Amino acid sequence: MRDLDALLAVHGETTPRYTSYPTAPHFDATAGAALVGDLMAACRDSAAVSVYLHIPYCDRLCWFCGCHTKQTKRYEPVRAYVDTLVREIEVFGEKAGARPTLTALHLGGGSPSLLKSDDMARIGYVIRSVFDVRMDAEIAVEIDPSDVAEDTLDGLEALGLTRASIGVQDFDADVQAAINRPQSFESTASVADALRHRMNCTLNIDALYGLPRQTSARLVRTIEQVIELQPERVALFGYAHVPWAKTHQRMIADSDLPGRYERLKQADIAARLLVEAGYETIGFDHFALPGDSLAVAARDGHLQRNFQGYTADTAPVLVGFGASAISKYPGGYIQNIVPTNNYRAAVENGETTACKGYALSADDRMRAYAIERLLCDFRLDFSALADRFGEPAWSLAELMKGQVADDDFALAAMDDTIVTVPPDARPFARIVASWMDAYRTPSETARYSQAV
Ligand code: SF4
Repeated sequence: MRDLDALLAVHGETTPRYTSYPTAPHFDATAGAALVGDLMAACRDSAAVSVYLHIPYCDRLCWFCGCHTKQTKRYEPVRAYVDTLVREIEVFGEKAGARPTLTALHLGGGSPSLLKSDDMARIGYVIRSVFDVRMDAEIAVEIDPSDVAEDTLDGLEALGLTRASIGVQDFDADVQAAINRPQSFESTASVADALRHRMNCTLNIDALYGLPRQTSARLVRTIEQVIELQPERVALFGYAHVPWAKTHQRMIADSDLPGRYERLKQADIAARLLVEAGYETIGFDHFALPGDSLAVAARDGHLQRNFQGYTADTAPVLVGFGASAISKYPGGYIQNIVPTNNYRAAVENGETTACKGYALSADDRMRAYAIERLLCDFRLDFSALADRFGEPAWSLAELMKGQVADDDFALAAMDDTIVTVPPDARPFARIVASWMDAYRTPSETARYSQAV
């Protein structure tokens, strides 16, 4: 096993997850509104658009959570937020001047599963009036099982749900107490059954390692229970403890957190169990049954990364609606206003919701592509990169050659034109990707999650 203490001392304790390049902290606070016209043009030019809707409300606050969300015990603020969201989508439709073809819709948050069925219906209606929703479009919704009632199932069915993403984290009661998320296996299984029975949808389950009071033995039991549910996909994330950025994480005692060797062991044991149960490894934190579209995309070399992590969605444009949502198009990124009240006021006043953005340079585009391919394929062919981006790809190859030569931990290997991350170094793939990040400086490391 690698000397983790030495490795992290050299390469840094934290690393971006690279769900975008450059990463969101580098977006420019003066650029967002100016890029909206480019996003609209990209929507008109693109054969396929995917849409993300952010619902920043939960009826409880889990202490591990890193999402843009807030707790509400009343439904009125959620209803008012949906009014705003619907209006934002309508305004987009008025400006777009065409009905872009929608191939994927993702509702995330927060907890979109707390929406009442009539609000889900309103969202479905406005999406279908602004976008031409393809018959085979993927409609995915993040589900907190404790929200799900008969009315929720009615709403999800009306929306046309094709994939439910169920948050589990860990089924152990002591771990759940430490993260303020009581959720029994039985209630989760019952929601999974109901979703499949009513909508014939596929399932994704999110599990976490590195949680407070989590041990390898407890995680093994959780993963066995996850496997019992037979989701088509499993996302296995490391808990990111950033109490300086997410103040509710201060409820988690540092002394309850597993150490870095234990974290790595947990990730390894969980991955082994999933592979033994027939799941294919997708990137560095996803698993999918062989017939699932994510596994097919990975085998075919079409796997992508977006703000939700690994995806089989190949639409070149992603439009984000709602507070904090990020849009992505070939020329750059635009982020919506983050505080919910400010976002609502902007929509109500007919002002732009864009608060930040980033116009990609040619160099950014090349590095973004290179980082995405490395994290999806664990391999990057610089001659193919040069075919696509020209001569600058060879400078990046030289830089990578130097980094690989200087690295004492065998995180990557490089022949003349191809860099690869060997299987035993894949948990560290983000570190290898960071060698191609032109914006990374040691002083910004506190923004990101643990590298391992
Ligand atoms: S983990 Fe999910 S349910 Fe819990 S606070 Fe975060 S978004 Fe809400």
